[in-house]
Amino acid sequence: MNKTKNTTPRKVNPLTSEKFTGLEVTSPKTVAAGIEAVKSALHHIAKEAGMVRGNRILLKANQKKGFDCPGCAWPDPQTRSKIAEYCENGAKAIAEETTLKRVDPAFFKKHSVEELSQWSDYELGKSGRLTHPVLLKADSSHYEAISWDDAFAMIGQKLNDLDSPDEAIFYTSGRTSNEAAFMYQLFVRQFGTNNLPDCSNMCHESSGTALSETLGIGKGSVTLEDFDEAEVIVVMGQNPGTNHPRMLTALQSAKKQGAKIVHINPLPETGLVAFKNPQKLNGWVGSTSSSALSDLFLQVRINGDMAVLKAILKLMAEQDAQGGQKVFDYEFIKQYTTGFEAFLEDIEKVNLEECIQQSGIDKALLEQTADLLSRHNKIIVCWAMGLTQHENAVGVIQQVVNLLLVKGSIGKPGAGTCPVRGHSNVQGDRTMGIWEKPSQMFLDNLAKNFSFTPPQHHGYDTVEAIKAMYEGKAHVFFAMGGNFLSATPDTEYTAKALQNCQLTVQVSTKLNRSHLITGHEALILPCLGRTELDMQASGKQFVSVENSMGVVHQSRGHLKPASAHLLSEPMIVAKLAQATLQNSATDWSTLVGNYDQVREHIEATIPGFEQYNQRVRQPNGFHLPNVARERKFKNGQAFFTVHPLPQNKLASKEFIMMTIRSHDQYNTTIYGLDDRYRGIYNERRVVLMNREDMQEFGIQSQQKVDLMSSYEGVERTAPAFLVVPYDIPKRCVATYFPEANVLVPIDSVAFKSNTPTSKYVVVTINA
Ligand code: SF4
Repeated sequence: MNKTKNTTPRKVNPLTSEKFTGLEVTSPKTVAAGIEAVKSALHHIAKEAGMVRGNRILLKANQKKGFDCPGCAWPDPQTRSKIAEYCENGAKAIAEETTLKRVDPAFFKKHSVEELSQWSDYELGKSGRLTHPVLLKADSSHYEAISWDDAFAMIGQKLNDLDSPDEAIFYTSGRTSNEAAFMYQLFVRQFGTNNLPDCSNMCHESSGTALSETLGIGKGSVTLEDFDEAEVIVVMGQNPGTNHPRMLTALQSAKKQGAKIVHINPLPETGLVAFKNPQKLNGWVGSTSSSALSDLFLQVRINGDMAVLKAILKLMAEQDAQGGQKVFDYEFIKQYTTGFEAFLEDIEKVNLEECIQQSGIDKALLEQTADLLSRHNKIIVCWAMGLTQHENAVGVIQQVVNLLLVKGSIGKPGAGTCPVRGHSNVQGDRTMGIWEKPSQMFLDNLAKNFSFTPPQHHGYDTVEAIKAMYEGKAHVFFAMGGNFLSATPDTEYTAKALQNCQLTVQVSTKLNRSHLITGHEALILPCLGRTELDMQASGKQFVSVENSMGVVHQSRGHLKPASAHLLSEPMIVAKLAQATLQNSATDWSTLVGNYDQVREHIEATIPGFEQYNQRVRQPNGFHLPNVARERKFKNGQAFFTVHPLPQNKLASKEFIMMTIRSHDQYNTTIYGLDDRYRGIYNERRVVLMNREDMQEFGIQSQQKVDLMSSYEGVERTAPAFLVVPYDIPKRCVATYFPEANVLVPIDSVAFKSNTPTSKYVVVTINA
């Protein structure tokens, strides 16, 4: 490969600014949403998009002929509110995308990457929408405008100069539509590699691995309608009030039908304490009592979930053994499962006292929970990063599956698994083939439908991709959306990895830190947003996405694009393929001219998409097949599994740190500096700490401290955090990401899924 001659590395800061912004702390909120959520949503939309224009845009959000909210992947109800089928954080995500502020070539002329890297992530994100493709030359510190054709020619040249296609990495963030994702993986595989890491590697990969092994499908089994049939809903390691707010509506409705809600989390998250539904009158006026949500709250220690589950299963097994009404569904176990005996033997050996110690949950509460689950058979368990980003994540999620299997709570109304996805189309991207470990069937279908031989060896996932760039094994990094640097662990290590590259390319809508920590040369390719009109040769186009419950539906942008120089993601892929692939048999122009063509190819390649173009035009889209929901388990059997308790030993001065989102944040996008539900305002450099621990360590409220982690002999430091006394179990602390990602070791990953352990980092606090 013709390497760009080494240039003086740019003095850029991979970490967000350490400047404090003026912390204010109040007591946490006792009720979520309500009128305050409406005020906050209107504040953000008016500030960014203009009150009238903004509200006109919001009317299209999550509507059947509208655009899919670019926020999380919570499904839309069959019957939608005509005036507001979105939540506060959906409105913030839409405000970010429809902002009137612009980042154009003049902006880059004025601001060098060195200067911009001193800005906070919040300030970067608030600069506005990118308007033109821009290039950062090797010997320059300012991006400058470049034509699209020159940009694609440059990328094509760099890619073809590589000694092997495996020296290139093609990352995907979960907002990419099905059509763009399918074209992207097709281009990458025709180029010759499976290096297709995605944001799922860092979030629900542990769920995919755990569920595929036990139930034969890596996706959740429930539908939204199941919530109204459920008798018990367990919410573990998830904060829906901030990360999936419309889920609170489903929980409130389920509760009205008599469901009991169990909340298991180290933090008493407001969204599960009480909820005022702004779409209902009592959501604006009247007492809080009417909207209490969780019936039981188990404030578990970080990574105490295995201990909670094993204790509950032990207590249920004891009840079952007492004769009389059977607690376990033996008919289901006999007909649909294997491995029950080994599982039961392990559970009967459980040392309850040890589980109480590890979980921090007292016996009475464990018994209450076990009793509730014993008396009901329609159980849904929901979870998110609080379960997936631990070393034993796959085991914990399989213990959740054990709990549902003993109750026959898989594949019937009101029951099943519910891993709630964070990004609006992260599940769809995986279904489209965005995966470094594609199935043989998928590769064979591609070969058959596109007359080429796809690469057969697996590619790099996200952690492996970072290491490959760090070790100089990969030289070109291409990201379809996202903010790779800030979303990934071990920020300084990842920064060096990206800076090792010859070329880094980011397809983006807005400015972020990954545009500043680059390869020797860098390109930013600005694309259309979800809300924007996408015109192609055959006219207006719509794209499709798949939500957390496997519903595929359309998303139509209506807004005039933020700039005349933007391209859609599918067009970017088509142009890239034409500039890179010498003898591709694929007619990329025709494909991108009418997305129906892309969907026809998807239908021919991926099972479950029969009559794709017809069914996606149905008002509510269509459900993909789900072997767990249909009890068509692989080989007809679901698997019980056996998992040990973790051995979490802490030294005297050590704490377990988990990274979390604030209420004014969506992944690495910072909407604002407040975390209203937790009573934290105007500051992100905070560490939430137990009051007794503060006393024991002589630490005062709002005292400035440094956080350190030491892993396999490597020290990492995150300087300048303010201590906030908070209701969190002893020796557990919480910080926001990306600020604390610098402490997450690149080698600290979940067993089997290789997901970074961002929810379990052993730290010390230097006061
Ligand atoms: S719940 Fe998620 S998808 Fe729905 S409006 Fe809110 S952020 Fe958007």
